[in-house]
Amino acid sequence: AYENMRQQEKHVVVGQMATAIAHEIKNPLSSLKGFTQLQQERDSNTDNYYPIMLNEIDRINAIVTDLLILGKPSNAMKRENDLMNIIEYVSSMMALQAEREGVQIEIETRESIPAVVCDDNQIKQVLINLIKNAIEAMPNGGRISVQIVPGTKEVSIRIKDTGKGLCEEQLSKLFDPFFTTKETGTGLGLLVTKKIIEEHQGSISFDSKLGEGTLVVVTLPTGE
Ligand code: ADP
Ligand code: MG
Repeated sequence: AYENMRQQEKHVVVGQMATAIAHEIKNPLSSLKGFTQLQQERDSNTDNYYPIMLNEIDRINAIVTDLLILGKPSNAMKRENDLMNIIEYVSSMMALQAEREGVQIEIETRESIPAVVCDDNQIKQVLINLIKNAIEAMPNGGRISVQIVPGTKEVSIRIKDTGKGLCEEQLSKLFDPFFTTKETGTGLGLLVTKKIIEEHQGSISFDSKLGEGTLVVVTLPTGE
């Protein structure tokens, strides 16, 4: 029966299955994490593998969480939001991780940025994913500048880093599911990011050269 379905229908079935499986994995995983932590506390031998085990459990959890977002039909709660508020919130949320990695986050403010109709939690998720990627591209520290540029019917958010950049081949694979160059990456962050932006009738583009940093531009329409 699956072979006879149209592409659209297949997407729905795969999405529903991914959601169901992801849910089933979450519960045993959280119990596994709890018992691993308990065992770690009991173990007097400090030379152990618990940190690695807990790290890997967290990674499975991150993959499953992203799969849940991808499989779910959108239930965006859209209303008028001030982008500046959202960006400042995310930047202060990421400040600790940035500082630890020797990364400075700078926000370039402009007066009179029009309100954007969006789901603020989803746009926060987008910015967290992009800023996290930028930090992870700068293992020796660097700078992230976030700029908001108002247009006539849209607002652009430009996120620029001074990190390792991307080659042509990597650029073409950015949104492929599970494409990652990181040891602990999921390769789902940008897919989730793109899904959210498209559900807002916006767009995302990358401009990058290997060794020269990366510019990500997210454009969101203003008004309904
Ligand atoms: P993950 O972060 O889990 O690897 P993503 O979907 O967020 O998955 O990103 C996929 C890949 O895109 C990353 O592994 C990295 O190679 C590349 N990438 C994304 N953003 C940047 C960036 N700002 N600078 C350099 N490479 C990036
Ligand atoms: Mg990522």
